[in-house]
Amino acid sequence: MLNVVLFGPPGAGKGTQSEILLQRYGLVHLSTGDIFRANIKGETALGQQAKAFMDKGELVPDSLTISMLESEVVKHPDSKGFIFDGFPRTSAQAAALDSFLAGKSSAITCMLALEVDEEELIKRLLNRATTSGRADDADETIVRNRIAVYNRETSPVANYYRDQQKYRGIVGVGSVEEITQRLCSALDTFL
Ligand code: ADP
Repeated sequence: MLNVVLFGPPGAGKGTQSEILLQRYGLVHLSTGDIFRANIKGETALGQQAKAFMDKGELVPDSLTISMLESEVVKHPDSKGFIFDGFPRTSAQAAALDSFLAGKSSAITCMLALEVDEEELIKRLLNRATTSGRADDADETIVRNRIAVYNRETSPVANYYRDQQKYRGIVGVGSVEEITQRLCSALDTFL
């Protein structure tokens, strides 16, 4: 299986690039943010629990997030692999994903990390708010909190994959096509 963690701060372009990569490599795209938003829309119990955290730009607790992610993976038993977008976001999630995949005789192939500086991220997210309808994009205080949470809780996850020689940093500024090209070149070194 080809299992890619597409990593990077909010607004780095993970969603955009995932859509392109999943077609190129025939993978299933699992975005924890999208799954939570679908649950909020569908007014499920999970959605209700997640919403309080998401509205503040905080992380949804690991226990909820991990069980949700695992139940999504098992919905695709015949998949050639997955693009994990927005997961893992904590070291505990990374460890849980590894042991879950190991139980399926599989593993993470690589982490591709989109690098974009902070002021550019804030610009992109506030701009995305005009079309995304996402309350967590529209308020600069919440946007800045999401980036602070990323720096504090999520960015250390990169070391987890660095230690396994699975990490590649990718310049996330440029045209969509240029960035896709960089991602594919990096990914192809793992095939
Ligand atoms: P972005 O990458 O732009 O922040 P996402 O759609 O990935 O957007 O995430 C939106 C929100 O969903 C996060 O701010 C967080 O509250 C919640 N979330 C998504 N993925 C996770 C995760 N793996 N662990 C905890 N919370 C998550």
